[in-house]
Order: sequence, then C-alpha cells, then structure tokens
Amino acid sequence: MSFDARKFRDLDPGQRVLMGPGPSDVPPRVLQAMSAPCIGHLDPYFLETMNETQELLRYLFQTKNALTIPVSGTGSAGMETCFVNLIEPGDEVVVCVNGVFGTRMSDIVNRLGGKLIRVDEQWGRAVNANKVKDAIKGKNPKVLAVVHAETSTGACTPLEDLSSIAKEVGALFLVDMVTSLGGMEVAIDKTGIDAAYSGTQKCISCPPGLSPISFSDKAMEALKNRKSHVVSWYLDMSMVASYWGAERKYHHTAPINMIYALREALRIIAEEGLEARWTRHKLNHKALVAGIETMGLEMLVPESERLPMLNTIKIPDGVDDVKVRKALLKDFGLEIGGGLGDLAGKVWRVGLMGHAARPKNVFLFLSALETILRAEGVKINPGALDAAAEVYAS
Ligand SMILES: *Cc1c(COP(=O)(O)O)cnc(C)c1O
Repeated sequence: MSFDARKFRDLDPGQRVLMGPGPSDVPPRVLQAMSAPCIGHLDPYFLETMNETQELLRYLFQTKNALTIPVSGTGSAGMETCFVNLIEPGDEVVVCVNGVFGTRMSDIVNRLGGKLIRVDEQWGRAVNANKVKDAIKGKNPKVLAVVHAETSTGACTPLEDLSSIAKEVGALFLVDMVTSLGGMEVAIDKTGIDAAYSGTQKCISCPPGLSPISFSDKAMEALKNRKSHVVSWYLDMSMVASYWGAERKYHHTAPINMIYALREALRIIAEEGLEARWTRHKLNHKALVAGIETMGLEMLVPESERLPMLNTIKIPDGVDDVKVRKALLKDFGLEIGGGLGDLAGKVWRVGLMGHAARPKNVFLFLSALETILRAEGVKINPGALDAAAEVYAS
C-alpha cells in the first residue's frame, strides 16, 4: 500500500503569547525537562522523581496530605477523581454553580447517581455563602463543592466561610483549584479543605496533561469506608495511592516526561516563592485593569471579587468579538479567550497565568487591543499604557 509520508510537514507551530484561559506560556526550562530521556517508571531515578514531585506539590498546595499526586489526565480528570472517589449513589452533594466549571461538577454528580443540591449564583459573581447555608438546612450532605477561581467568568469565591459551613454539617469540603493554584493563595490545611484538584496548564505554566490533587485524612477515611467500589478503575485513588506510596504497586504507567515537566515547573515556582508569585499576579492584574479602564472599557466582575489571573472585559457594543480575537492572533501572535455560555460574544477573557503574568505581556495586550479597536472605529480614550506604567511604578 502506498502512503505519502512527505505530505506531513515538520511540526513548527511558531511562538505565541498565551493570554487566554489556558494553556498559558510554558517556560523553556519546562519544555527542556520534557525532552530528557524516557526511563522506566519503576527505575529508581524515576521513583525519586515521583517523590520530589509530591514534595513540591505539597509545598504548592500548602498541605501535609500524604495523598498529594498528579493524576494522569487534565484538570477535568482531577475533578472526576474527586467526585468518583468521595461519593456513592444516593449521597447528597452540594455544588455551587457560578459558571461553566460548577456546571460541569453538577453533571458529574448526576452521572454518579449523587443527590445534587445545586446552589446557583449569577455568572460573574462570587458564590454567596448565605445562599449555601439556606440550601442545606435540614439536609445531610456528604460533600460541599465549589470552584475557587471560575475561569469562565473571572470571579473568585472566598473559601473560609464555605469551609466553616462544610465543617458544621460534617461534609467534606471539595475545591476546584485549577486556575487559582500557583497564582493566588490556596492553603489546603489552613483553610480546612478535604479534596482539591488543579491542572498543569494554568498558573503552573506546564503543558496540559496532569491534574495535581490532594486528599485530607478525612477524605481518605471516607474513601476507605465506602460501601461500593469506586466506579472508575483508572481513577480509583485507593489503588493509585499504592502506586505513588511506599508499596509502588503497579497500577498504570505514569506519564514519565509529563512528570519531568511538572517537576521543573514546580521547581521554578519554589525558586520564585509562593508569596512573590501571588504578588506578581496581583500587580500585573492591576496594571491590566488600569489600562483597560483608562481606555473606557469595563470589567465584568466587581472589583472585590476579581481574580488576578483571569480578567473578563466587557466587549463594547457593536464590536465583532471573533474579528478582534482573530486580529490579535494573526497580527500580534497573541491568544485571548472568548466568553462561554451566556457570556459568549459579550466578554473577552484575558489570562495572566503563571509565566505569562508579566509587564511585557500587559503592555503588548493593551497596545494591540487599542490598535485593533481604533482600526474598527471604536472610540478609545488615550493613556492606557501610561496608566499601566503608573501601577508598576507605584
Ligand atoms: C480549565 C479548568 C478546568 C478543566 O481543566 P481541563 O484541563 O481543561 O480538563 C476545570 N476547572 C476550572 C476552574 C478550569 O479553569
């Protein structure tokens, strides 16, 4: 059989500036680590690499939890891991929904036969803890789940009050940290979080493919006391924990080179230091917002509820969303995200995640957007770059 292999070009995607909702820019050191030789997954060198990755993850999650590992799969695999291990059919589960990812959590709970207690909040706003309290009166939920950083809207929900509510009713507190981890504080032990998951491609600045998770002792206890088997074989943490633990009992082959990448990305985070990293995200966010508001554009989320790493800008009336984003990518090599669900066509989502949260990207985005909008005939106030520069100078 003849097959023309030459029709497939050499891979050469070119450089981009990734300022969307993820993936974010990956530092060269991480890509280099990925290209180290692939070795056996039970090779002593790799076992040590697994241990180091866990130690670095515990630092990032701010936890002592033994089960702190990267699940093989993207952030959604981490989401599924948490629910599939912690709930059984008939269990009451509270899910706070203020965007796409809370909606996804609800879908998973329904698929697993959980009794969903859904608490809806306006998209673009933080979840109101009082609403959650009211919704669970007289109920006995096993899990209370919330998305810390709703990437679909740019809203941040504070975790302390929800954690207290979960404790009061004896529920496990489950938090989606996909976008917040590595860009703002997410102290698992201090906040009293029982299960958390994240993704590598947001503020950790590693390619997509792994989902760091962490389970508290209470979550491990709930897993041990299940009446039924975890319905997913691949994501069953009672088996995966033995693979990552001292027994090294084979479960599935760890994605070796992805773990090299994650370890390097975590090393970069530890070198910078968590506090410095959170401050850097906040500073670049402030500069970006100063520029946007100076132009005369508006942010979707009220100031006190905004995420630093995901900035949602209202699209001015009459402006063609797709045309602007296409021009940003084609003329400036810059990727941002569009709106999802009800917000489609109404907002732009601008990521300042991990490695991408830096002044040169803020200035590039502001000047590129201004140039494109002016060409489209939109009236833009001058001074956006000066406003951003003032934030950095102060
Ligand atoms: C990106 C994201 C996910 C899903 O992660 P994938 O890596 O796309 O599977 C889940 N939750 C939030 C908050 C996210 O931003």
